[in-house]
Amino acid sequence: MIFEVLTIFPSIFETYFNTGILKKAEDKALVSFRVFNLRDFTHDRHKQVDDYPYGGGAGMVFKAEPVIEAVEHIREDNKNRKVIHLSPPGVPYSQKKAEQLRDSCEAMLFICGRYEGIDERIKCVVDEEISIGDYILSGGELAALVIIDSITRLIPGALGDENSSREESFSWGILDYPHYTRPRRIRGMDVPEVLLSGNHEKVRFWRRKQALRNTLIKRPDLFKDIKLDKDDKILFDKIKEELKHEQDKGN
Ligand code: SAH
Repeated sequence: MIFEVLTIFPSIFETYFNTGILKKAEDKALVSFRVFNLRDFTHDRHKQVDDYPYGGGAGMVFKAEPVIEAVEHIREDNKNRKVIHLSPPGVPYSQKKAEQLRDSCEAMLFICGRYEGIDERIKCVVDEEISIGDYILSGGELAALVIIDSITRLIPGALGDENSSREESFSWGILDYPHYTRPRRIRGMDVPEVLLSGNHEKVRFWRRKQALRNTLIKRPDLFKDIKLDKDDKILFDKIKEELKHEQDKGN
């Protein structure tokens, strides 16, 4: 997968692309990164990328032409590329969207806005508009990193242990189970006995139950989008009963 970004702050990406999973994935040639400076697509002496908004109002707006020119230049290699404009009014990003993007193209170009945003007319070169959440960032760079990071984890071979992305929160449609590492006891708190049992089937069942329980307590809204199989349905009802019992006891 080729990840490309168009930004006025290329240096933001250096450290992150050269650290941890992303760096390893690049070393294994699973991904490659290309960062383009929007200022390189201007033609005036001051390399000006922004201008005052028509109609007045606060702040500056990125001009459309440098963005359109940059996209046209990058597209010249004819790769199956998605051009993504990072923008608060875009489609909300999710794990499902990450999987979809991983499967649908061989390159992705992220356009990072700044200031008040970008001249609306860049839409002639944009395939998708994505938002990473209902809040306003100072620029699209963090949003690009969030998306690039989450997609890289989904590329087979990018994580050391293949199972680790399959079992994470949201990949089953529900949250993750709790994790423990050594020592067995800290400050009077013990690791659940079942995890020390060496019985893989029991561990698997316990984790599944904890994942369902976690979701029921912390994000019950997630259940509206998933279909539980028969075993999970039984487990789900049992957890609900347990929680009710715990609540009654607490009152
Ligand atoms: N005036 C705009 C906000 C501009 S913020 C509005 O009210 O919608 C400047 C830039 O940061 C945007 O052009 C976009 O590229 C990026 N950005 C800010 N918040 C974002 C979010 N939640 N998701 C994706 N990109 C975001």
